[in-house]
Amino acid sequence: MKTYKYENKIEKLGTLYLVPTPIGNLLDITQRALIVLKTVDIIAAEDTRHTKILLKKFKIKNNLISFHKFNEKLRTKKIIEYLKNKKNVALVSNAGTPIINDPGFYLISQCIDLYKKINIVPLPGPCAAITALIASGCSTKKFCYEGFIPSKKNTRIKLFNSLKKERRTIIFYESSIRLINSLIDIKNILGKDRYIVISKELTKKWEYIHRGFIEDVISWIQEDHMRSKGEIVLIIKEKNKKYIKKEKNKKIFKTFKILKKILTEKEASKIAVKIHKTKKNYFYKYLFKKNNM
Ligand code: SAM
Repeated sequence: MKTYKYENKIEKLGTLYLVPTPIGNLLDITQRALIVLKTVDIIAAEDTRHTKILLKKFKIKNNLISFHKFNEKLRTKKIIEYLKNKKNVALVSNAGTPIINDPGFYLISQCIDLYKKINIVPLPGPCAAITALIASGCSTKKFCYEGFIPSKKNTRIKLFNSLKKERRTIIFYESSIRLINSLIDIKNILGKDRYIVISKELTKKWEYIHRGFIEDVISWIQEDHMRSKGEIVLIIKEKNKKYIKKEKNKKIFKTFKILKKILTEKEASKIAVKIHKTKKNYFYKYLFKKNNM
């Protein structure tokens, strides 16, 4: 296998390439990923049938072995043997970046611990969490990734309780069947004024990004259950009191504008504040600023 000058790696044993694959749109594969998949000695794939489709699309023929969570330990031994024999191996999952909520962690930790001479080369590429984050409008300066929200209610509640003090943007993977229950738990534990972004089917035909306060997002999904179907990244906006206040005021202002058509400004603002259960001073200040702009 060709070693790229810029990789500046001395291939003492084989190289293990970690190769991200598209999360929907096959055109998101990188040129470098294709070269690696074409030229390595073996591709370890989460589901060989799935990867065959990708390889066929790009007219790549290569040797595949399965590497999934049920055979990870056994296969690690085999892959390390290949690498010790100076064979190059590419690790791919069904979609996105391997090892990010996909198999491979045990393999690389074994390579690092046991055989320091094995090169590990990560390729950049698609990852649902990062793709969702960059379009979310949530802070990218600091964020945390929590993986899949646990399916068991008790564990889920424990997790959300542990995140009560988290100020950074929080990223989760979630299944469409559990989405609504998780949102209800988030609302009850982290508060109804948290701002949420649901990114579903990213890079695919039905890609959709929905943003809003948690209560509104819950109602939006409850109106049409098809809205929660598909692959989902759920993001909770960083805890930013100023932002939450501003967004809330915008919402109250919408109600205020409707009420003002039939009421005086004073009556309309009083009722709008009551409807949204907020402190009137916050909204009055906002209204004053708006009127004087
Ligand atoms: N390794 C993958 C990555 O880099 O994103 C993640 C694998 S994890 C087993 C699969 C989960 O990622 C899905 O259940 C969903 O939460 C999220 N996901 C994957 N593809 C997605 C997409 N196209 N749109 C939204 N979320 C996606």
